[in-house]
Amino acid sequence: MIKANRIIGHYEGQEEGPLFICLGAMHGNEPAGVRAIELVVKMLEVEPIRNPHFRYRGNFVGLVGNLKAYEEGKRYLDKDLNRSFDADKLSFLETQDPQELDNEDREFLELDREVRVLIAQYQPSKVILLDLHTTSSHGGIFTICREREEDIELGAAMHAPIVLGMLSGLKGTTLHYFTTENMGVETIPITFESGQHVEGLSVTRAVAGIINCMKAIDSVDSDVVENHHEEILIKYSESLPRVTRLIERHAIAENDAFVMKPGFLNFQSVAKGEVVATDKNGPVTVSENGRLLMPLYQLQGEDGFFLVKEVT
Ligand SMILES: [Zn+2]
Repeated sequence: MIKANRIIGHYEGQEEGPLFICLGAMHGNEPAGVRAIELVVKMLEVEPIRNPHFRYRGNFVGLVGNLKAYEEGKRYLDKDLNRSFDADKLSFLETQDPQELDNEDREFLELDREVRVLIAQYQPSKVILLDLHTTSSHGGIFTICREREEDIELGAAMHAPIVLGMLSGLKGTTLHYFTTENMGVETIPITFESGQHVEGLSVTRAVAGIINCMKAIDSVDSDVVENHHEEILIKYSESLPRVTRLIERHAIAENDAFVMKPGFLNFQSVAKGEVVATDKNGPVTVSENGRLLMPLYQLQGEDGFFLVKEVT
């Protein structure tokens, strides 16, 4: 077991700008985002030495999402934290003895408090919250964003395929919770999936995602900080659909005995009726022609797979 701090690192810019909060290990078995944040903080620290004209506009802070699960290397301890963000439940949880709460309710409270402290200290006019994830399956980087023009523009600037409609298929994610309404300041949440959990390149692609996001929100000029990041993501997304929309979520319960057939990749095309998994009732098929997303190749998780369809 490792010992970690909630704050991975931070960099306060020379000029005013947005508060850019980057979350790693919202799922404790996804360390790539934490590594990427550590690297980005180091890069920002050396950039003024490399380039005396360097200016960062705003404040960059990296936080661990599910600290206890990350320390234990598990997706979660009691329940999925990225399904547990619930504004209606917050005031109730705050009245409870923290020791009596399950791990993820406690993590929710702590993370929420940390984000509010950052907002209160920095007093930004805008908050960008980038939630970094990886998948148990290979093949495919993508962003998940809300269906607002500004959010989609930000997603597109990150040069990864955009998946729409995920919010209606899920509840209690960072995208549902870290909003202008709940934070009291203009807030844009966005999720970036950088590849498979333990693939080395997932760290590189997460670094690229963070840097591209910094450029898109105008915290750094596009000609500073190592410039190959855009290319990494553009090249990797070349064969992937630009915008897709969720058409099916295959939810699973613990006693379903769900087993994904081996070898499926993110964005792999599948045909209506194709058998993609088995469970206690036999073969599991897809309901329409489409592309598979996040086929489950790990023990913990409530989603067997998602099916998306190309929009453009
Ligand atoms: Zn995740």
